[in-house]
Amino acid sequence: MTKNNMHTLVIGGGPAGMTAAIAAADAGDEVTLIERNEKLGKKLYITGKGRCNLTNICDDEDFFKNVVHNGRFLFSAMSRFNRWDLMGLIEDNGCPLKTERGGRVFPVSDKSSDVIKAYKKALDTRGVNIEYNVKVTDINTLKTNEITKVTGVKLSGGRTLDADKIILAAGGNSYRQTGSDGNGYAFAKALGHHIVAPRPSLIGLVCRENWPGELSGLTLKNIDVMLLHHGKKIKCLRGEVLLTHFGLSGPVILTMSAYCDDNPKNYTLSIDLKPALTDKQLDTRILRDFEQVPNKKIDNALKKLLPVSLIPVVRKMAGIDAEIKVNALDKASRKRLVYQIKNLIFHITDFFDPNTAIVTSGGIDTREINPKSMASKLVDGLYFAGEIIDVDAVTGGFNIQIAASTGFAAGSH
Ligand SMILES: Cc1cc2nc3c(=O)[nH]c(=O)nc-3n(C[C@H](O)[C@H](O)[C@H](O)COP(=O)(O)OP(=O)(O)OC[C@H]3O[C@@H](n4cnc5c(N)ncnc54)[C@H](O)[C@@H]3O)c2cc1C
Repeated sequence: MTKNNMHTLVIGGGPAGMTAAIAAADAGDEVTLIERNEKLGKKLYITGKGRCNLTNICDDEDFFKNVVHNGRFLFSAMSRFNRWDLMGLIEDNGCPLKTERGGRVFPVSDKSSDVIKAYKKALDTRGVNIEYNVKVTDINTLKTNEITKVTGVKLSGGRTLDADKIILAAGGNSYRQTGSDGNGYAFAKALGHHIVAPRPSLIGLVCRENWPGELSGLTLKNIDVMLLHHGKKIKCLRGEVLLTHFGLSGPVILTMSAYCDDNPKNYTLSIDLKPALTDKQLDTRILRDFEQVPNKKIDNALKKLLPVSLIPVVRKMAGIDAEIKVNALDKASRKRLVYQIKNLIFHITDFFDPNTAIVTSGGIDTREINPKSMASKLVDGLYFAGEIIDVDAVTGGFNIQIAASTGFAAGSH
């Protein structure tokens, strides 16, 4: 590719910044990628439990259903660089991929480091200059005739670098030890952009009830979880919930957290431990179990139906005494038991420690960004990419794809 005398600086060596640098180099720019760490993709390295769920091959409609905030903003970027394009880029650079349950794409090696190596190879092939161990501390601009234009960046240590175009891909604000500590929002804010208040997403939920802590480590499988906002149903999902010292976690809870706003106290969760059975069917099933052990105490008689450690909790909530034998249990008590099994309530009080969030929701207001080019509508030559923008999705490979697609849009314009 012939050079066009355009110097592009990319801030941040995550999937957004790396894809942006590759696209800008392909467009003929001279590109410098600045990463504060000693290596690229520190967060990418820990994705997918070290396996990197790179993207998802579901169709477009399903893809956008999995984007929680500002999916429409991504239409153009996703149409120009979709999952097949990202998979092509990674495979062409030496990392074969495979598809697993739910359309989730991983490296065949199950090693996220192979995805990072593929990115590095693509950057090296294109002659992208990478500056490690330096942090951008400021974005320099010049104002002429009411137009503000970027001119370069200031680096830790005092050096400055000139640029015609700057792509800010500094990530969100979680797992801060990876370098994504939210410092990028301040650059955008200083240049006049509005930041939609960042909040943790895909994170565990703390609840008022103490008993989940006492049962820490217990996984509830194939249960229905309903999220309610001031009692109004928001979302219902089937899957797994993990009880922990801090409250609730596991795949379904992480997804539910994405649908809470920044005031989790307004939410409750209702869990149906036996979603495959109607109230009546569950009552019949309990009666059948009881008939087999008429002289046993309730806790012993429910062992086939519920995890053992959970039985006393549910029984107490149903107001049933531990000493009572099943043949002495009246119909009203049984009805309360059925109700508790199908409506276990948790009052959410908080998110887990924000640093443990898989993504940050919120970020640079999408209304101030051109959705085709990711260009700032306020500052000439400034572009954004990745998690720093107010877009986020649930788990499944969608967030890395968003980073790559917005990175490509920013780099190729
Ligand atoms: C534990 C965990 C597991 C995850 N698993 C998955 C998964 O399997 N699939 C998926 O799709 N998503 C996953 N995600 C989310 C995904 O990792 C992020 O959405 C994605 O990395 C965002 O990419 P990004 O390039 O925008 O930001 P980041 O990857 O956060 O990269 C930003 C980079 O900018 C650098 N930087 C920041 N400020 C400066 C500065 N001032 N100067 C220089 N450099 C700077 C940082 O050091 C960092 O390297 C996971 C996240 C976590 C925490």
